[in-house]
Amino acid sequence: MPRFKPYDYKQTVMLPVDFEQQILPGTFEYSLHYLVDNELDLSIFNSKFNNDEAGRPAYDPAILLKIVLLAYSRGVTSSRKIEALCRENVIFMALSADSRPHFTTIADFISGSAEQIADLFHQVLMVCDALGLIGHEMFAVDGCKMPSNACKEWSGTHDDLKKKAKKIDRAVRFLLNKHREEDKKGPPDPTMRQREEKQKETLTKASRKIKKFLTENKKRQGRRGKEVKSNITDNDSAKMKTSHGVLQGYTGVAAVDAEHQVVVHAEAFGTGQEHGLLEPMLEGIRKAFNGNYHNCGDEILSEAKILADSGFHSGQTLEHLEAEGIDGYIADPGFRSRDPRFKTASRHKPQDSGASKIHPKKRFSVSDFQVDLANKTCVCPAGNPLWLKCAKAKIGERLFMQFMGYQADCDRCAKRSQCLRDIRQKGARQVNVLLETLSSPKIGIIERMKQKIDSVFGRHIYGQRLGIVEPVFGNLRETLGLRRFSLRGRTKVDGQWKLMTMLHNIGKIHRYGWTL
Ligand code: SF4
Repeated sequence: MPRFKPYDYKQTVMLPVDFEQQILPGTFEYSLHYLVDNELDLSIFNSKFNNDEAGRPAYDPAILLKIVLLAYSRGVTSSRKIEALCRENVIFMALSADSRPHFTTIADFISGSAEQIADLFHQVLMVCDALGLIGHEMFAVDGCKMPSNACKEWSGTHDDLKKKAKKIDRAVRFLLNKHREEDKKGPPDPTMRQREEKQKETLTKASRKIKKFLTENKKRQGRRGKEVKSNITDNDSAKMKTSHGVLQGYTGVAAVDAEHQVVVHAEAFGTGQEHGLLEPMLEGIRKAFNGNYHNCGDEILSEAKILADSGFHSGQTLEHLEAEGIDGYIADPGFRSRDPRFKTASRHKPQDSGASKIHPKKRFSVSDFQVDLANKTCVCPAGNPLWLKCAKAKIGERLFMQFMGYQADCDRCAKRSQCLRDIRQKGARQVNVLLETLSSPKIGIIERMKQKIDSVFGRHIYGQRLGIVEPVFGNLRETLGLRRFSLRGRTKVDGQWKLMTMLHNIGKIHRYGWTL
């Protein structure tokens, strides 16, 4: 028979905890504690309080900031979980001096301090610069699309939403009529009736919510003045396509310095399209370095190289770079196809298992269609006529005449597999016939950027983009666990994005800046 050490749960142990001894030098929490207490000016929060003569004393923003940043650094973004950590985890107890703020206080602090967080981001950036972590020579800009606290099912143009409300009203009317009919026949099934009553109530509420939204909000306009989809839960967010499907959220854009991957400017935008976002990002860098830092002043952009991927490529952006005298390296969508180093890249891509996609070279091209531009007609290789979709469609800097196959013809066509990009495609074939290339100054700018990117020096410079900016997103997503924004509204989401990127910068200070 083995013998074990005796134990007894009915006993009391007094454990003395010295909070200062819990925050050990060399740890992230020590750097954070030191930074907040010695380097940051938290008087920016004073305007939020009005209790100097009456009312309860508030929690010190230093305490809230420390525990929020420490929790975020461990991938905890829920206010309830942060509150629990302050009760149960000795490091959090020590950092918060055992003050145990309620989760609503923590949530209000995060969501209601966007302006102050922007200021703190700037102060942390100043510390990074003073420690020599910023090289000022090269900045890479990139964005990452993330879902926010918004529902994509509640998005659409105003017409879509009107249709949705009508559909819901029809469903409510259907239930009402059904109940009337059932009542005539005798007492209904109480369980079923209760369930349907609840369903009716939910639908009525939803319809009311849509109608209220439509009366209170104007149509959202895109950059080109066209209406874009609104969203009832968060109208600042956008429905966007990503490689992992469609999501409703924001694009968090970061400008990263090449020296130590410090984020010099971060901003969240309620759009999925990145072209047009480089200008505000450059303005943000300029403001951040506007005379505050040694040797920089206003010249920061004219002396640095700016790298961005093809998402940011547009004639307007390139014009802006030229006008401002900025040395930009912005790739165009086709730059890899011109780069001999990517010649064998397709070998390393996963092969499509099904034979659904056909080789682009085998697909019917425009030359296989009989086009009569004078009479605006087009006949496909199967002998079927196509209808004129648009006589002059402007795509980029080129004008096209667009024809479209009839759905019924394409559905039963024997040459479908040679004609459509994907045989699973539901729509009919579209053919764009080039009419003319517009002689625009933008063409010259685009060509010049192509030549710059394709040069040996350009490829060497642009090749550094991936190593500068992508590790930052990797750290934010994988280490800090930022998979989605938990707030609504661009201001609040922007605050959360700045908070996370500021945390990334504090990590840089902890690792490379101080020897505490
Ligand atoms: S898929 Fe449509 S457009 Fe193409 S050949 Fe067949 S009918 Fe013509």
